[in-house]
Order: sequence, then structure tokens, then C-alpha cells
Amino acid sequence: MGCFLALKTECHHPLQHSANTPSDATRAIHHGESFADDTGTVMPPIYATSTFAHGNAGGFDYTRSGNPNFRILEGVLASVERCQHATVFGSGVSAITAIASTLQQGDLVLCEENLYGCTVRLFEQVFAKFGVRTDWVDFTDPDALTAIADHKPAMVWLESPTNPLLKVIDLTAVCCAARKAQVPVVVDNTFATALVQRPLELGATLSLTSTTKYINGHSDALGGAVCTDDPSWHQKMVFAQKALGLMPAPFDCWLITRGIKTLPLRLRQQMASAAAIADHLALHPGVDWVRYPHRSDHPQQPVALRQMKGGGAIVTIGLNTSREQAYAVCKALRWFTMAESLGGVESLICHPATMTHAAVSPEVKRKLGITDGLIRLSIGCEDVADLIADLNQALSLVP
Ligand SMILES: *Cc1c(COP(=O)(O)O)cnc(C)c1O
Repeated sequence: MGCFLALKTECHHPLQHSANTPSDATRAIHHGESFADDTGTVMPPIYATSTFAHGNAGGFDYTRSGNPNFRILEGVLASVERCQHATVFGSGVSAITAIASTLQQGDLVLCEENLYGCTVRLFEQVFAKFGVRTDWVDFTDPDALTAIADHKPAMVWLESPTNPLLKVIDLTAVCCAARKAQVPVVVDNTFATALVQRPLELGATLSLTSTTKYINGHSDALGGAVCTDDPSWHQKMVFAQKALGLMPAPFDCWLITRGIKTLPLRLRQQMASAAAIADHLALHPGVDWVRYPHRSDHPQQPVALRQMKGGGAIVTIGLNTSREQAYAVCKALRWFTMAESLGGVESLICHPATMTHAAVSPEVKRKLGITDGLIRLSIGCEDVADLIADLNQALSLVP
């Protein structure tokens, strides 16, 4: 109850479609036009400069600590996330590094046990050397909420839906428990994006995104961002951007600013196709199980319906086959490229057992549920009928 009151209540009012409260699609296209100079240019220029003349009106000095292309992208990201501040970084991992760099020796981070692999690697192989400790818990387990009060961590680190099993965590419940214990919460929102779920409105302190994925959407640039309404956290992110050299390139920001304009359109198509493909594969005799957040057979479907405006565009399936057969199915596809990453206009397929999780020990794989027959599909913008026909022909290889 107290937590509900502590939330930013203005965000819970239904949005009116007036000129002052535009919806996502309009925000994504029409933010940051203030760069327009005496040329009337419709698209922003690329500010390819390392430095700026002292005393300029924009307050720029050196690109490591700010550039007009960063500022334009930060503006549109904050607008779409409905928050006060966004800070851009050179990659999702740079954004994670920026947040982790605020920790001190001896600090404990209470992490969801299914975090993105590179986040785990950063904590275990880099920040552990500086005395940052981690504990890994399953945040769908109510005991995890008591762990927040018991362990008094310096930070809670979540991701929802998780990779690759699309576990959905009740962000409101975790943020509520963390708020009572005065613990800041980081949510990696890469799989959902602000169009599907807005962690800050659910009580998170920081919403982190790899803009490499859906936000840019064209697999041609890397980027990351951290959104927040807390001015002191914003200052910490701005400091990390310049002090650790985590800034992006102006050209990459320009690409991502272009990419986000079609995010609402792309995501609408990708989510509709993903839902249709999940339903099709659930009935396919060659497929053992299907995991998709808005399906009734998803273990956390009620939470997913409550906090996500769509089911996302990732579908994970299990085949009852050997590792070699699952790999052969992936390789037999014509429209799905077998590759790491996700969120682009082109469909991708990933076989975690031989790709993203190849180095993970058999015990940990078992614990995470990464079986030999597990396949993750990132649904792109191709015609859904073509994608389904392609999946059918590849699955005909399953004996
Ligand atoms: C890709 C990804 C990252 C890392 O982003 P990069 O831009 O590749 O550095 C972090 N979290 C999640 C969930 C991701 O999918």
C-alpha cells in the first residue's frame, strides 16, 4: 500500500492523445528536432567532432563528456521511457559497467540468477576483483523478497523477461520490497523495451537497455542507455560516461536515433508474428514445448499480462532431440540466420547449448534449464507466413 503511494501516480493516468501527451509512435519520430539550424534540415547532422570551442551555448566541451548526437538520442529515449533522464553509452555492457562502477568494495549485489551472460561475467570476472560481492536468487520465488530485507544488499539487479527462458519477474513486487529496505533496483529492460514495459513506473531506480537490440533494430550499431528519474543517479551516469570513457560514437547515436523512429511499427509487427509463431509451434508435433510470456501455458502469464503491453518478439522452444539434431534444424532454416543477438528486422535463431552457453558447465546449464534441444527465436519483420513455412520445413528434419 505504502509502495503504491510512493509510485509516480501521474504515470498511472490513461494517456490522453492531445498534442501535449503524444503516444510512443509520435515521440519516437518527433523528439529532438531542436538541432534545426538555418538549413531547415529534417534529419540531424552527424556531429563528427572530438572537441568544441570553449563557451558555446550548448555547453559542450569534449565528446567523451557529451555531443549533440548523444543529447538528441538521450532526449528521445527519455521521452519514450516517460522519465527525466537518459544517459547513452557505447554498448549495453558499457551501460552495465557504468552502473556497476558506482559500487564499492564489500558491497553486495542481489542478482536474479538468470542474468544476461555478459552481466554475470562482468560481476564474476571483473568487479569481484574489486571486492564487489554477488548473490544469485530466483526472483519468482517469494523467499527472494525476504532476502532483500535480510541481506540488505547495495543493489538489486533484475532482468525480465530473462534470456533464454523468458522467465517473467513481478517487477512491482520486487521494487516494493526493495523500496521498503531502501535498496536501489536496476532492471535490464532490453528484451521488452519501454514500449512493452516501463520499469521506472513499476518502481525501479534504473532502467537499462542495450540499444543494440530492438531500439536500433537494424543490427548495424552497438549502444546502451540508462534511464532514471533520480537526479543523483543521473549525475553518477554522466560521470561514468566521461570518467570511464564509456561514451558511444556520434555516428552510432545517429543510427540509433534513426532506428528508434520505426521501433513502434517494427515491434507491433514482430510481436504479432511472434505470438502467431508461438501458437503454431505449440501445436507442431516436432516441438516439445513453447515458451512465450503472453501464452496461457507460460508459468508467469498473469504477471506478464499485468506488466507487459505485449508478449515481446522472442519465442523459445524445446525440441526432444540431440544437440546435433537441434543444431541441424537451426542450420536448415532459410530466413532465420543462426547468430547471437536479437531484436533486428531480420529473424535470428540461437542454439544456446552450442553458442551463448557453450562454455557453461553441465550443472549450471541444467540449473538454468538450457537443454540440448532448446532454441531461441528472435522474430523479425519478414512475412509471418514465410517464417512459419520455413520453420515447418526445418522441423521436418526432426525424426
Ligand atoms: C545484448 C544484451 C546486453 C549487452 O548489450 P551489448 O550492446 O551487446 O553490449 C545486455 N543485456 C541484455 C539482456 C542483452 O540482450
